[in-house]
Amino acid sequence: MRYRKLENSGLKVSEVSLGSYLTFGERLNEEESARVIHKAFHLGINVFDTANVYQSGRAEQIVASALKSFPRNEYIVATKAYWPVGNGANSRGLSRKHITSQVEASLVRMKLDYIDIFYCHSFDTETPVEETLRTIENLIMQGKILYAGVSNWNKEQLEEAVKIADAHLWRRIIVHQCEYSLIKRDIEPEIIPYSKNNGISQIVFSPLAQGILTGKYNKLIPKNSRATNSNTNKFFNRLFTKGNLEKAAQFESVARELGLTLSQLAISWVLANKNVSSALVGASSTQQIEENTSSILEEIPEDVMRKIEYIFNRK
Ligand code: NDP
Repeated sequence: MRYRKLENSGLKVSEVSLGSYLTFGERLNEEESARVIHKAFHLGINVFDTANVYQSGRAEQIVASALKSFPRNEYIVATKAYWPVGNGANSRGLSRKHITSQVEASLVRMKLDYIDIFYCHSFDTETPVEETLRTIENLIMQGKILYAGVSNWNKEQLEEAVKIADAHLWRRIIVHQCEYSLIKRDIEPEIIPYSKNNGISQIVFSPLAQGILTGKYNKLIPKNSRATNSNTNKFFNRLFTKGNLEKAAQFESVARELGLTLSQLAISWVLANKNVSSALVGASSTQQIEENTSSILEEIPEDVMRKIEYIFNRK
């Protein structure tokens, strides 16, 4: 495993990190989840991503409890808040009230003293960004959070956060969590250049397009795969198109020529962008996490890059 530093910080993250959405406490029970988490740690993964709402808090519990076997300074727990956790007027969003109560609830659920990376899970149009950022800064000063990030913000929203931080705060947010894969490249034109210039790193989720870029759907739909999960959300269905499956089939031959699996080349490809610090994958078995952490290329040869562009950028 190689590690990259999040820009503007001293925090080193594994090039591959492990998420918990739709897997731990859903596809997998606690014992099965712990096996995947332990395997990931032993393979060198040091970032474990969760959120207050994943599996209604169950994912946080499972991740933190599995990690208790390891020294606290050797792993990074990232969690998030924004999405509704109840029906109250203040049970969602990025207000001081909601963030403070959610950080407390996450710490209790995870039996942790601090969260390594806390993300605003989405942008809140109803709360002033300054209120959100000052709240997070207070939580950092109290030692409940170590680093701050945001997730699914656009360039203008990142700009606002940077402006406020520069004027009033101790430091800027250091990381943006966003979707990025060969079939979802929306961050390339604006977010990446802006982030590069402002010391914000990306930790990118769904680098395998929720499994489509592993080739697992190239011939049939395997039982117990995400495509058969009744809780699969609209984001999966949006990616699960005939066109994307055809691209995955063509991508398979490029990966095989290099002696790699599709997932290894898809992960290598997101990491070829040096503003990306970590590819945040999901895994529903120890075999998947083994595959997703081995043979990741340090550099993709130019002719291979051209072939990949041809497949995925063709109109
Ligand atoms: P991926 O694109 O890595 O998809 C993971 C899924 O693909 C696995 O659960 C598994 O599904 C399948 N898979 C993975 N590896 C293999 C393999 N080698 N062979 C075959 N199948 C494989 O990422 P996710 O979409 O799961 O997202 C990762 C994490 O990112 C989440 O857990 C969450 O922590 C975070 N996230 C954050 C969001 C945000 O808004 N900030 C939004 C979404 C995710 P299966 O076996 O069930 O088919």
